[in-house]
Amino acid sequence: MEPLPDASAAPARGADDALADAQGRLIRYLRISLTDRCNFRCTYCSPAEHEAADGLLSRAELAHLVRLFAGLGVRRIRLTGGEPTLRKDVVEIVADAAATPGVEDVALTTNGHRLDELVGPLVRAGLGALNVSLDTLRPERLHGVSGRGARLERILAGLDAAAGRFRSLKLNTVVMRGVNEDELAALVRYAWDRGALPRFIEQMPFGGGAPVPLAEVRGRLGAEGFALTPDPWRGWGPARHMRARDRDGREGLVGFIGAMTENFCEGCNRARVTADGGFQACLGGHDRPDLRALLRAGADDAAVVAAVRGALARKAPRHHMEEAGAGLVLLPMRGIGG
Ligand code: SAM
Ligand code: SF4
Repeated sequence: MEPLPDASAAPARGADDALADAQGRLIRYLRISLTDRCNFRCTYCSPAEHEAADGLLSRAELAHLVRLFAGLGVRRIRLTGGEPTLRKDVVEIVADAAATPGVEDVALTTNGHRLDELVGPLVRAGLGALNVSLDTLRPERLHGVSGRGARLERILAGLDAAAGRFRSLKLNTVVMRGVNEDELAALVRYAWDRGALPRFIEQMPFGGGAPVPLAEVRGRLGAEGFALTPDPWRGWGPARHMRARDRDGREGLVGFIGAMTENFCEGCNRARVTADGGFQACLGGHDRPDLRALLRAGADDAAVVAAVRGALARKAPRHHMEEAGAGLVLLPMRGIGG
């Protein structure tokens, strides 16, 4: 299995206008949470349901923001949530983003529950990259992690439908102590069988449960017979990759996202728009100017850009999510969009 490389982070066109943060990091990648609602209740995310006050950003508001950010050098858009496929207009939102001048890549992150029916429309709309969350291959475990409404056979049918249809297909697994630590090898093989890149994510402190440090994840894969060697391949994101080779000589890449023990902030290239239209410069931060309020008050683009640049100018060198619970209160993951 060999994933096709993501589009590289080429220098911004119109570099004078390019967005940069206080540390001089260029912002080329915008993650947009389309909704904070979800049909799953993953233990590590944010189980309590809440609705964004005053409604979500409309399709037209989203298209406006994507145009504006693309004009400032953003080249990749990821649509996330909450569960983005709960929005009836998700395919149109993808098509709008894909048709925006300057946008080189549109990606979606989903729990996969509606994927089977959406693969065709999403491909036709121009979706290039798809991430699907898959924490376990056992139906009962999935119920324990994501709630009784989560049906494994639907996710797996969606993944079968998605295999080979996108430039990039990734499977995201949050590794949880005492829950899915024994499935890591099976998940790697499952992903490779579908031409997908398996990625293991260290749990961040947004919900309950205990994280497993990535060093331990690599150790477990080693114990299961995978020889791991560092691989220089980088996509758009914070993942580090290893080339894995199993006892049968089968090999491919495995991604590791270690938010807590292997801080990835140095190379940060991203910012977020939350489900309620807040601009969040850092996943672990609280500074979030309200772009939705500006748009609805009729503010011109210059005012929106000023709010964005202001937040980026205040962005810290790194997150401090390890201090969650000891004074730091994080905003819910489902509203921010991961
Ligand atoms: N509902 C979609 C899904 O589950 O893929 C998209 C939104 S979800 C918030 C985006 C990603 O964040 C998923 O891959 C999920 O596993 C991950 N995630 C959620 N809570 C997390 C946590 N506490 N630590 C690490 N990753 C988390
Ligand atoms: Fe929903 Fe995704 Fe959060 Fe699970 S991780 S509760 S699927 S938003």
